[in-house]
Amino acid sequence: MSKLGKTIESVTGFTSRIIHHDREEGFADGPVHAPIYNSVPYGYATTEALEAVFQGKATGQSYARQSTPTTDSLQSMINQAEDGLGTLVFASGMAALTATFFALLKAGDHVIVSRYLFGNTHSFLASLCEFGVEVSFVDATIADDVQAALQDNTRLVFVETIANPGTQVADLEAIGLWCEKQKLIFFVDNTITSPYMFNPKRVKASLVINSLSKYFSGHGNVLGGSVTDTGMYDWSIFPNIFEAYRKGSADKWALTQIKKKSLRDMGGALSSDSAYQIALGAETMALRMDRACSNARQLAELLEEHSKVERVYYPGLKSHPQHTQASKWFRHFGGILSFDLARGYSCATLLNDIGLVINATHLGDNRTLALPMATTIFFEMGAKNRAALGISDQMIRCSVGIEDPDDLLGAFAGALDRLAAL
Ligand SMILES: *Cc1c(COP(=O)(O)O)cnc(C)c1O
Repeated sequence: MSKLGKTIESVTGFTSRIIHHDREEGFADGPVHAPIYNSVPYGYATTEALEAVFQGKATGQSYARQSTPTTDSLQSMINQAEDGLGTLVFASGMAALTATFFALLKAGDHVIVSRYLFGNTHSFLASLCEFGVEVSFVDATIADDVQAALQDNTRLVFVETIANPGTQVADLEAIGLWCEKQKLIFFVDNTITSPYMFNPKRVKASLVINSLSKYFSGHGNVLGGSVTDTGMYDWSIFPNIFEAYRKGSADKWALTQIKKKSLRDMGGALSSDSAYQIALGAETMALRMDRACSNARQLAELLEEHSKVERVYYPGLKSHPQHTQASKWFRHFGGILSFDLARGYSCATLLNDIGLVINATHLGDNRTLALPMATTIFFEMGAKNRAALGISDQMIRCSVGIEDPDDLLGAFAGALDRLAAL
């Protein structure tokens, strides 16, 4: 028992729960922060004790590619944040995503995925087709579109909560209900909302992905990813669980298979150093997001009013097609916004003139980052595909940071006012 192990009052707030998540287990000597365990192997006093760990008869560490006490502690924090049954952490969000798809799918399976996805996820799913998995890209803001793609071999539906850069909001509630009825896995990427803004389990998500590199850790200084099993799916009916993992309670089967087939065999493990950084950053997730989302909302309103801006994409605006749903489901409207600069003005000239804003990709840093879309992230796919995704040549994406609002709004307003037509 840890020296810190007093039983704490039952706390219900998001931050109270996550910062005290490990109080009762604790670590030897009473460190207040989980220590960074950098050992790769873990030793046992007897061969029999080591055998018991390998055979799953006893819990314990074996090798850092599967877990360390530091990554276990982060898993417990994420699990608390997502109200999950169990969580695994990986070296990046993409490692978590690819691990989950590879561990749970086989050639001949079919998946339904949102057309509005993080670019690298989109690219990965296109590669997955080469492995014999059929992928249908649908408009996930319309539940009927998702349902129309159903086949006999459909195994899962995958969506993001708020997509970037267009900020489309998937029809989470209707898709969740339908997946439950069809006995399909509902797999949700909660990265842009974070567990503070949204709990996907409430719309019956079975598995939840978070890129820990974004709002979760928040400081733009570490990569990581996680997958959480919410306990909403009955794995005993899922045909792709290997015989070796069909033991004991079916609750654990999927995460065991993902851990063994992906983390152990494919190796996208998170280091203890990174796990420590992520846990430290996560302690202020709610505080950072309150500020970033409030800044984003004010900036969206300022931009929408400005004559040199043609259109603003932000779920917090009444003009957003899913504003009503977003108000109902999310605590805030997020820190990401995009806008189309009016034709006849240069995106580069505008961004070069906003000194406070850093020209960089990435989301969820404490600093405001911005970049034009058509000439950077979506350059490779060409004009035709950009048009299909609703990405105009004038679109700028902003990941709004936690700067003081007056400074941020002033910087944008000043540069827009100075901006001259081409
Ligand atoms: C960034 C991101 C990912 C990938 O996460 P990494 O940690 O950068 O690998 C996945 N999904 C979404 C929605 C993202 O924004």
